[in-house]
Amino acid sequence: MTRKQQQLLSHLEERGFDRSYPTGRKGVHVGCNQCEACCINGIACHETGCPNQASECGECGAPIPRTQRLCTSCADDLFPDYQDEVNDDQ
Ligand SMILES: [Zn+2]
Ligand SMILES: [Zn+2]
Repeated sequence: MTRKQQQLLSHLEERGFDRSYPTGRKGVHVGCNQCEACCINGIACHETGCPNQASECGECGAPIPRTQRLCTSCADDLFPDYQDEVNDDQ
């Protein structure tokens, strides 16, 4: 497996394509165990409603699980502001 394939595969795994694997010398197969994932115009896509489909952070656009609205670093940034508001109310 080439470095490029490794990078592609880890990127795909981040986005929920957990059945991806390298094919040939430089290709990767896009696979998801929850849907019939496919590659459209070079972009890996889950079927609509797939539970593995990643969402995007509302702040920076980083891929995150669908259950979250912000990525960890953006959520951390917001937390101190929230604390200040609570203190002001007291
Ligand atoms: Zn999927
Ligand atoms: Zn973010």
